[in-house]
Amino acid sequence: MRNLFRNIQNLHGRILRPALLGFFLMLFLAAFAPTTALAAPKVNIADGFDFPVGKPDAKNYYKSRGLRLRSPSHFGEDWNGRAGGNSDLGDPVYSCADGIVTFAHNVKTGWGNVVLIRHAYRDPSSGSVKFIDSLYGHLDKMSAKVGQSVKRGQQIGTIGTNFGMYPAHLHFEMRHNINIGMDRNGVPSTMDHWADPSQFITKYRRLNREWRPVAVPTGTYKAFAGFKGL
Ligand SMILES: [Zn+2]
Repeated sequence: MRNLFRNIQNLHGRILRPALLGFFLMLFLAAFAPTTALAAPKVNIADGFDFPVGKPDAKNYYKSRGLRLRSPSHFGEDWNGRAGGNSDLGDPVYSCADGIVTFAHNVKTGWGNVVLIRHAYRDPSSGSVKFIDSLYGHLDKMSAKVGQSVKRGQQIGTIGTNFGMYPAHLHFEMRHNINIGMDRNGVPSTMDHWADPSQFITKYRRLNREWRPVAVPTGTYKAFAGFKGL
């Protein structure tokens, strides 16, 4: 019995004390580490772009509306299942490329659940790294969180109706201007700011795999419906 007691005391000294020290060290690190970790999130440079439905080629889907920068404008594409109606409700929606989730909230209004993802890619014509945002609107469910890194083809949600406002479809945008976020007011309707999603994806279908991630700009969106994003 006395031996047992001594053993427990030894256990205290050898295991519990260092464990306690470790615990306080972790608390200390937790208090100071996030500020540096969050300062510059990094993303992998995209190795190519795929379509966000019918992975990877939009198989069994069609574009019911395309990009139109002139009035009546439509700043992206509407993707529907070939079977029509709400047959595509709940179908998976995929990130079109590697990136980091910059927004994922139910902003209600005409949008509903919206996910935005920021991608880095090396433009083969200039050799420089550029950024582009992709937007996925009216989602039934979101399975991505702000700050989360995603891969090309990773599911980020499902096709929805914006809570019954529309027949089920995916509203999909791509923007060269990474300040737009949810506020399209005052953004010039030009191809400097917007990309034609199908054109862009087709052009950058496959890019060289690069192993060094790049720092991604954050804090570029204005708050919308009380949500700021990454
Ligand atoms: Zn639309």
